[in-house]
Amino acid sequence: MSATPRSSLADSRNNQERQDSSIATQQRESTQPQTNSIPPLLGSSLTELTQWVQQQGQPAYRGRQLHAWIYQKGARSLADISVFPKQWREALVDVPIGRSVLHYRSQSPDGTVKYLLRLTDGHIIETVGIPTFARGRDDSTQNQKSKERLTVCVSSQVGCPMACDFCATGKGGFIRNLVRHEIVDQILTVQEDFGQRVSNVVFMGMGEPLLNLDAVLEAVRSMNEDVGIGQRSLTISTVGIPGRIRQLAEHHLQVTLAISLHASNQRIREQLIPTARRYPLEALLDECREYVQITGRRVTFEYILLAGLNDLPEHAIELARHLRGFQSHVNLIPYNPIDEVDYQRPSPRRIQAFVDALEKQHIAVSVRRSRGLEKDAACGQLRASRFAAPHAGSNSEQ
Ligand code: SAH
Repeated sequence: MSATPRSSLADSRNNQERQDSSIATQQRESTQPQTNSIPPLLGSSLTELTQWVQQQGQPAYRGRQLHAWIYQKGARSLADISVFPKQWREALVDVPIGRSVLHYRSQSPDGTVKYLLRLTDGHIIETVGIPTFARGRDDSTQNQKSKERLTVCVSSQVGCPMACDFCATGKGGFIRNLVRHEIVDQILTVQEDFGQRVSNVVFMGMGEPLLNLDAVLEAVRSMNEDVGIGQRSLTISTVGIPGRIRQLAEHHLQVTLAISLHASNQRIREQLIPTARRYPLEALLDECREYVQITGRRVTFEYILLAGLNDLPEHAIELARHLRGFQSHVNLIPYNPIDEVDYQRPSPRRIQAFVDALEKQHIAVSVRRSRGLEKDAACGQLRASRFAAPHAGSNSEQ
């Protein structure tokens, strides 16, 4: 018996807007992974799974069972689903659920875990699990039970075409978009490994999520409705692609939008982010204002602090001028060093001076504490190049 491909799902993947920038056009040509002809089930809603089992001649309640086995019990193959009739299970062996294979796992002393996950076409992506503890709690009481939150930093692409100068992923180039099951799989993988429910997701791993918006939106739906993570606990981080922030806003989601701003003026931004040349700072901020208007959600601006380059009090004042009256929050990210460039992380005193200067201008600001720095799992240190090609470098299971 053959499974019926779910054409409506495949169609929605091809809906990407036509008015893309040249980067988007160029990257779309090499996007689709070589997978089985049957689309993987992971990422499908309860309704879709129910329709699918009915197409297979099974009663509707099997859809609910399938949903629970995929999202709660972590089934990796339909053959694992012991509540299904044996004969049917055997007939379904070729229908993929769409789970990745763990290629490498490493844990930092602070509890952050970095995963390298192997996709069906052999490419490797990086995912990070970040446990956070209750504020002010004594370290000695931090056991499994006292963990309050588990944040997953997910990848949306294999590599990234944006080529930001300070980012290790950007230095490695772009390979392809992820499809929805490959994004949702990252959440389930971390959840299963920690034995704890994922509470928050940030699209801050490899890739530019707004260049893969259809798959990201499908994954967001699934994380929300199938895995059970609140929309407000999901953050989409983008460097900004013309027109795409508005497009995202039109979906009226309650997700948090984070903009990788990183500069207080167009000149510095272009120096750090090559694609900023085609997207003036003012145009980006205008689109962000529209996002706030349409969704009623405030925007987070990420600002990587690079010593001597964008971390002077005058930059803070310039930044504040852009953000005055804007429902926003600035998240300062002290630079995490990468091999390819010699930017410096500012001293704690300089970071504090920047915070003070912003606060003096009444800008809401926080400083991101770097997690997993020891294991190259911190922001911007996720690197496709070492592991990307299916047959290059070390492929051994570790
Ligand atoms: N493409 C998206 C999401 C991936 S990057 C974006 O640009 O937002 C996630 C965050 O990590 C971004 O804010 C990015 O600027 C930051 N980042 C990249 N390299 C970094 C580095 N070396 N040190 C600190 N943060 C970095």
